[in-house]
Amino acid sequence: MKDSYKEKVVIVTGSSRGIGAATIRKFAQNNYNVVINYLNSKQEALSLKEEVESKYHIKALVIKADISNELEVKELINKTILEFNHIDCLVNNAGIAIDTTLEDKTTENFTNILNTNLIGTFLMCKYIGHIMLKQGHGSIVNISSTNGIDSFYPYSMDYDASKAGVISLTHNFAKEYAPNIRVNSIAPGWVNTEMNKELDEDYIKEECNHILLNRFAEPEEIADFIFYIADQATYINDAIIKIDGGRC
Ligand code: NAD
Repeated sequence: MKDSYKEKVVIVTGSSRGIGAATIRKFAQNNYNVVINYLNSKQEALSLKEEVESKYHIKALVIKADISNELEVKELINKTILEFNHIDCLVNNAGIAIDTTLEDKTTENFTNILNTNLIGTFLMCKYIGHIMLKQGHGSIVNISSTNGIDSFYPYSMDYDASKAGVISLTHNFAKEYAPNIRVNSIAPGWVNTEMNKELDEDYIKEECNHILLNRFAEPEEIADFIFYIADQATYINDAIIKIDGGRC
């Protein structure tokens, strides 16, 4: 227990790379102490810690945890509280997609996707919400996707369903935790991250034809908005905000 409420703290799940890592950088740049949660990429998480601590003079904690595992979620939160004594913001960013034809879709893969994207988000909201209620303040941002709203892809129907579920969770947790805790969701369209590294050039070009800005987002453009809605937007609550460059 080393901290006071003066120094803000954020947990970003699945934050060793991609949108999560960009979000860690954004909060650190704004004087937050940060919790970098990772599943497999220990080295990337440690180098991100080194980077943000030396650049922004904040404290970064690196914690391995599978957010779909209730015990590991509790451990992640306990370690955070032991170090910082409070949690101001939670960004539920960790997510997986397993794209296949309908023929190849399995119950096992569908379950894995739901366990991470939906149950993981639920567990984090449940246990961190408990702490935020006791504190009397807090802000939660759940990362959904336009795939959960209006851009559907049969090869990711399991992922799309999980992201629709995240929107439903957001509304219910916003109700449950009002009035002192804000709960919002963002729904990015295509973003340039490892998640899309398998896409071929022709496919990307075709998808860009359906985006008014005619390009994928960079992770930093998503992170900027996550920070805004989590920390700055004091009257935005229970909102689902698309960040997709405009669909056409
Ligand atoms: P990414 O694959 O680079 O990052 C996802 C991170 O989550 C990885 O670091 C991964 O290890 C971690 N993770 C996966 N399962 C986990 C678990 N059980 N416990 C802890 N960590 C776990 O992808 P990204 O593009 O940075 O995605 C971040 C979020 O944004 C995801 O929720 C994704 O669904 C969402 N999103 C991405 C896009 C896109 O086009 N990239 C679009 C809309 C929404």
